[in-house]
Amino acid sequence: MVIDIHVHPFCKEAAVTPDVQEAVKRMFDPLEPQRREVVQKGFTYLFTQRSIEDIIREMDGAGVEKACIVAMDLTTHYGVELVTNEDVARIASAYPDRFIPFASVDPSMGRAAVDKLVHAVKDLGCRGLKLVPPVQHFDFSDPKHYPLWETALELGIPVWTHAAHQRSHPDSDARLGHPMLVEPVALRYPDLTIILGHCGFPWPWDTWSLVIRHPNVYVDISVFHDLYGHMPWDAYVKYGAENKVLFATDYPLRGGFNDTLTALRNLNLPADFERKILGENAMRLLELG
Ligand SMILES: [Zn+2]
Repeated sequence: MVIDIHVHPFCKEAAVTPDVQEAVKRMFDPLEPQRREVVQKGFTYLFTQRSIEDIIREMDGAGVEKACIVAMDLTTHYGVELVTNEDVARIASAYPDRFIPFASVDPSMGRAAVDKLVHAVKDLGCRGLKLVPPVQHFDFSDPKHYPLWETALELGIPVWTHAAHQRSHPDSDARLGHPMLVEPVALRYPDLTIILGHCGFPWPWDTWSLVIRHPNVYVDISVFHDLYGHMPWDAYVKYGAENKVLFATDYPLRGGFNDTLTALRNLNLPADFERKILGENAMRLLELG
């Protein structure tokens, strides 16, 4: 069983607010016009020509059985939502065997973010929270966000956070992606499940340190499949954390499902470790068993 815990359902069945053209303009304004046009074309294609069935076909082709599909709320910084909580909930309820919906909220919105998360989980059926501190421009360690972590804990959902630098958005603040910003939250809420997204690059050892010390902190292996040689795979095994590494791709932003799958398989990790990464760990974490 292969489970991808980080997929963006960019397709006709999902929405961009206010619209693709304006959203790309706001998010990629500092890019030179030609590059922005490429992004514009790519996004327009995905949101007008691709359907969720196309994504499922690609999953089938690669042998990916289930995927966590994520919303992205960038309201404060850009006034943009790239797929809404309603979208992921609706898509997942149409294909309950294939998709697990992850909501997104904008932590800088304080109480409104907390309320939005409660609504997404209790009313819409979302089963996780997805956050992107370098682009949402918030500090994961700031005590003002504690109510959000307490709410996630009460709701019993995992918090997935982008724990890496970010090259896609020209004005993203890499410092806010540092995995060590999660440390005080992991210490204060030891029962809160936190997934450090994107291998923690360029801080793979800091990430490893968090994962091996905090029982409920995990890492996903999306995006940096070209740098897998720099990831401390053996150290995860040596320190008993082989149950805490999760397969993810960030599809479609870093190629198809096969790019990551092939890079992982080429590592020739011990077969049981590979099996755990590909699906067993996510099964347990997401209680899919
Ligand atoms: Zn992503």
